[in-house]
Amino acid sequence: MHTIVFRTTNECNLRCKYCYDNSNHDSKISKRIATDNFFNNLDYIVKDAIKLYGNINYGKFIFHGGEPLLVDAKVLNEFCKILSSKLPIEFSVQTNGTLITKDYIDLFKKYKFKVGISLDGANEEQNGARIYKEGGNSFNTVISKMNLLKQEQIKFGVIMSINKLHINREQELYDFIANNEINTNIRPIFPSLSGDNSLVMSTTEYLTFFKNLFEMWYNDSEKRVKTGQILEFANLVRSVVLDNYTNRCCECSPNCFMNFISLDASGEVYACNRLYNINDFYYGNIRNMSIEELENKINRLLELRNKGIEEKCGNCKEYRNCYGGCVAEAYSQFGLIGEKSGFCEIRKELNDYAKKRVLM
Ligand code: SF4
Ligand code: SF4
Ligand code: SF4
Repeated sequence: MHTIVFRTTNECNLRCKYCYDNSNHDSKISKRIATDNFFNNLDYIVKDAIKLYGNINYGKFIFHGGEPLLVDAKVLNEFCKILSSKLPIEFSVQTNGTLITKDYIDLFKKYKFKVGISLDGANEEQNGARIYKEGGNSFNTVISKMNLLKQEQIKFGVIMSINKLHINREQELYDFIANNEINTNIRPIFPSLSGDNSLVMSTTEYLTFFKNLFEMWYNDSEKRVKTGQILEFANLVRSVVLDNYTNRCCECSPNCFMNFISLDASGEVYACNRLYNINDFYYGNIRNMSIEELENKINRLLELRNKGIEEKCGNCKEYRNCYGGCVAEAYSQFGLIGEKSGFCEIRKELNDYAKKRVLM
């Protein structure tokens, strides 16, 4: 296993309206409790990670959550020191950005973290779903923290969850990305059987949004947003112009469960952090199972997944770049392991669109 997505804590200081993880957030947990929980398990977590990495000589460790920066920077620093003394590790963090301080910046510098921040757009309105547990928009705080990162010359990427609040707001978003020189991923929020779907765009709404933004970028003679700044655009063009292009994201792989695993501070392992606390994707506790047992469970899950997907997607011309899309998205929408992602139509349409647009 080369990438551990670590559930640093279940708790979060935000309550984003579309969050797939809201049911796992415990409102009683404070920064202090999250830190103590991590600290008390620190040596076990190191052992768990080493066991999961197995024989590889280089590992990736992503601090995820909930909100990972609820755990004190000193404790994270101690953990990174011990883990990286055992194996070369590439550390990353996916954070809502609100809790970044100089202590975390020092940590990011020391261990060369890849930093991902979540922010939904150019202003409070577009960021309207990302609100604090106590209420209030997180936009201004995140912008001030991004400025701090820039001052300290920490590179970071921004994940934007595209939702109904972005309808007809493409120009503001484009200017924001250009003026702030942001490297970003844009991805639509996905519907779920149990969550609040009121902000999920329809297929037509998302296609309109994406194409409008793409056209701004493609037709921009000054190239205010550079190639690669919006990763989805660069990947779409690459997939059209390069023969044998392979997108390396987990969502474009036929075996994401072989490469990624979700681990928590108690040793619980799940197929993916987005599928945490769902029985169908629970492997067990790594502290009382062998790696062979784990591998057997992963293989069984993959067989189940691939059987369904080959039936549904085997004849699709996008198969090599999609493999049915993200399992977690499909499961949260349909409750089935072998179902293709609800973004199937979007993917097909955008590929046809890019072929016409780029090759014409
Ligand atoms: S910051 Fe992330 S984990 Fe926290 S509520 Fe928002 S989407 Fe959920
Ligand atoms: S379920 Fe989705 S998010 Fe999770 S590892 Fe697979 S493709 Fe990635
Ligand atoms: S585009 Fe749709 S049919 Fe084709 S592989 Fe992806 S999910 Fe399956």
